[in-house]
Amino acid sequence: MRASFRKKVHLSRLGLVLVYLVIAGCGGRSRLEPTVLLISLDGFRWDYQQKVATPNLDRLAETGVQAKALIPVFPTKTFPNHYTIVTGLYPENHGIVANTMFDPVMSDTFMLDKREAVSDGRWYGGEPIWVTAEKQGRISACLFWAGSEAEINGSRPTYWYEYDHNLPHVDRVNQVLSWLDLPADRRPQLICMYFPDTDDGGHLGTSSPAVIEAIQRVDSTLGILFDGLVQRDIMEELNIIVLSDHGMADIDPERMIFLDDYIDPRQAGIIDWSPLLGMWPPEELRNDIYSALKNAHPRLQVYRRNEVPDRFHYSTHYRIPPIIGIANEGWSIATRDYYDRDSTHYRGGAHGYDNRYPSMRGIFIARGPAFENGMQIGAFQNLHIYHLVAEVLDLEPAPNDGSLDSVKVVLD
Ligand SMILES: [Zn+2]
Repeated sequence: MRASFRKKVHLSRLGLVLVYLVIAGCGGRSRLEPTVLLISLDGFRWDYQQKVATPNLDRLAETGVQAKALIPVFPTKTFPNHYTIVTGLYPENHGIVANTMFDPVMSDTFMLDKREAVSDGRWYGGEPIWVTAEKQGRISACLFWAGSEAEINGSRPTYWYEYDHNLPHVDRVNQVLSWLDLPADRRPQLICMYFPDTDDGGHLGTSSPAVIEAIQRVDSTLGILFDGLVQRDIMEELNIIVLSDHGMADIDPERMIFLDDYIDPRQAGIIDWSPLLGMWPPEELRNDIYSALKNAHPRLQVYRRNEVPDRFHYSTHYRIPPIIGIANEGWSIATRDYYDRDSTHYRGGAHGYDNRYPSMRGIFIARGPAFENGMQIGAFQNLHIYHLVAEVLDLEPAPNDGSLDSVKVVLD
């Protein structure tokens, strides 16, 4: 069956039809079940398509639905947002409250480069869409996504890999295409795919040559992927969603908040630095540290966990530090000592800021039989994507903070 499918790409259109008839006549390969290919371009800001030509993203959007922007959850960091996208939950409800966090119950620290934490299901609350799919008898595959390396609720994607930041694009594309080439009883109906390039480039500045080059590189890779789908005659059957987790803001060594001007940072139990400061000071020092930082710097908003403004949805989870600070857009938090050793850390781009800033917004493009053709809609929150994907796949969604009503206009 796979041989026939491969072969037909070399045949004429008439040949294609004949092969189809033969296959159909043999009771062979049926057309695809509803399938979603969810692609994340890390840190792809809502306006990056205007920075340089992106013919493949443009083509996808012109024949699908594009939102003006995708609004991230707070904090506008990679793991919290990727995990919100696949669960429909605010970070305070799914537990991935930062890229770097402390759990006082497990007395353990989560960090992105700590494999035993990233692959430990105890960190991940809620139900990611691949678990929803697997529980309801579907096959799922993840070529990298926050949480996809962990067993969550006793379940994993059928196909998944350990994260490899440097896996070449061509290998990513070939892996996804080979999943789609599998016979129907093994072919995933949900595929998640991830590209880090635009985040890496954006951290060097939102107008840097590196980010421009990254935008072009991921767009051209998408072109190769789409060509592969067209060759297989499944481009029109797949529901493709291209999105990003957050945007990026330029920072500058002139825009610094130095903690050691107000407190002794060594006593503050700092787990996370900038632009979201997370502090677990010893109980007896909490009041002093809080008082010393509150209203200390006009560009730093400081809160106790229970007084974080409601709109952040960032107070109920026990992993949220008891004292947090949020730098204003484009500002960085450090110590004078660290800054003096290497101030270049504070040049380039950063994210993690208030999700109200337009600079923190990402993209959303969807194309396929489930979606409208040639539609543009306003910005919406990434919370709703879990329910949207569940609807396209005809899955019963787990309880979540999003709503289908907010996005169902995109459905055909
Ligand atoms: Zn990211």
